[in-house]
Amino acid sequence: MSQQYVIVGGNAAGMSTATRLRRLEEDADIVVIEATAYVSYASCGLPYHLSDTVPESELAVMGADQLSAAFDLDIRTSQTVVDIDSERRVVTVESRDNDRYDLDYDELVLATGAEPLVPPTFDIESLEHCYTLRTVSDATAIRTRVDDAKRALVVGAGYIGIEVAENLHEAGHSVVVAELLDQVMPNTLGDEMAALVETHLREQGIELQLGVGVEELTDAGDGTITAAMGTDESRTFDLVVVATGVRPRTELAEAAGLERHESGAITVDSRMRTDTPAIHAVGDAVAAPSALSSNRAWVPLGGPANRQGRVAANDIAGHDDELAPVLDTAIAKVFDLDVGTVGLTESRLADQERPYEAIYTSEPSHAGYYPGTADIHFKLLFDPDDGTILGAQAIGTQGVDKRIDVLATAIAHDDTVFDIRDLDLAYAPPYSAAKDPVNVLGMIGTNVIEGVADIVHLEEFETAREAATVIDTRPAEMRETQGSIPGDEHVPLGNLRSWLEERDIDGEVLTYCKIGKSSYMASRILQQEGVPSRSLTGGYYRYQAAKRRGDTAGRPS
Ligand code: NAD
Repeated sequence: MSQQYVIVGGNAAGMSTATRLRRLEEDADIVVIEATAYVSYASCGLPYHLSDTVPESELAVMGADQLSAAFDLDIRTSQTVVDIDSERRVVTVESRDNDRYDLDYDELVLATGAEPLVPPTFDIESLEHCYTLRTVSDATAIRTRVDDAKRALVVGAGYIGIEVAENLHEAGHSVVVAELLDQVMPNTLGDEMAALVETHLREQGIELQLGVGVEELTDAGDGTITAAMGTDESRTFDLVVVATGVRPRTELAEAAGLERHESGAITVDSRMRTDTPAIHAVGDAVAAPSALSSNRAWVPLGGPANRQGRVAANDIAGHDDELAPVLDTAIAKVFDLDVGTVGLTESRLADQERPYEAIYTSEPSHAGYYPGTADIHFKLLFDPDDGTILGAQAIGTQGVDKRIDVLATAIAHDDTVFDIRDLDLAYAPPYSAAKDPVNVLGMIGTNVIEGVADIVHLEEFETAREAATVIDTRPAEMRETQGSIPGDEHVPLGNLRSWLEERDIDGEVLTYCKIGKSSYMASRILQQEGVPSRSLTGGYYRYQAAKRRGDTAGRPS
């Protein structure tokens, strides 16, 4: 007898499961129950519909009819699973006309996704032009309002908030982004790296309000919305998008008594099995084994959702497969910048009380003499003893994606800074430099481990500088525009040797520059001249980010 598989949720993870199952079992009955009118839609493309960069016709990757025809699936849209009886292996479904019926399953797959997490003080249902962005209907509703409006507020500067801000700006709006924390993209970027993104956003004309929690949204009476921002400011907007995070949608799993993770997500193993027989779970609703912690992690991203669907289908069909631990690899377009991240951040490492080293560099995307080169700014986190790579962040206008992907591959294979130093990567002038930035990161990392590069972190720098000479090795223009550390001396790298000849140095010389590259070279010169020296890792960016927060004691970020 053929098997009956019921999949709850027809977006990325659910449809990946359904279509893979069909490729493995031609005679199975595969039923997909989806609460909305859409299946398999471009969730990650929704922000781009606000500027019409992605038209509505492109948002449905494949319609239910096409999918049913191609994969012989029984897709039931606008229907909702309201109950699971895991003993009898039956789900109760509420149909379009609110009738309820039971459906047997041999295997059930929960792909119920995530839903917007809206602050409890926001009564967005009562506000005509206040939205979240999760579904195709959300995107089309905002798009309809966009042409009649000019002033937009985006609440939250995570990935969705930033992508929405860019697209509303492209659509001709003046955009204010209010973020509760004191930096953009706080979950994935260190604050010194976020500073690069913030500068770019401001240059593009986005008004950033950092450290500003939006406390209340009220109807101003004429279709506009008044936002209470921070302690004393209220401002009025034509359109508000709330992008304050998401949470796993797990009411069904909860009612069925499935084990859940501290995040609330459904706990699954590497085969996407829940703790209940014949129930798998996939996508934004699950916490899966992770390389980022000894436990599981809830990582609501499109890549893992698709892979999980395939693994669950393989497991159900009896093919041996396991999910590789999730690394939290992500990339976002922020106007002209690409922002790529992978693995652990400093704050997560600090939470885990795990020792780490942090290094930075700026490297050209390809050979400097070939037209169109641009710097990529990198941060690399690694184990200080054996050099295992723990996390990376890269920001630039080109070449970010491939470097983050190489670093993600390295992390997936437990590679060290020694391994990436020696990687044999593709090179020709239009594509890279003879020393690819990934190789350079490996060189800096190995220099640190082998003691060739002496770096100092901001916290230690602040204490050590009382008894040391501090020199800024940046060019004069940079110092003038960006500012400098009080009490320092300006010694551009090219002047260092003559400065040394003229000066009788007593004690340590601490060096700093924009991010830590020319200061490292300066420290090497000084050390070889017998002057003890360390270079400030993260450079002025890191100092400035700490100063902006009102402290220089250094907060992991
Ligand atoms: P998020 O959690 O990344 O960001 C939400 C932000 O809102 C946080 O920075 C938080 O501090 C802020 N916030 C919360 N309450 C606030 C308030 N009252 N006032 C002001 N700010 C407030 O969530 P998101 O941006 O909604 O994204 C949801 C998920 O989708 C995330 O996991 C994200 O990584 C993922 N996503 C990824 C991509 C990508 O990889 N390119 C794109 C879009 C979404």
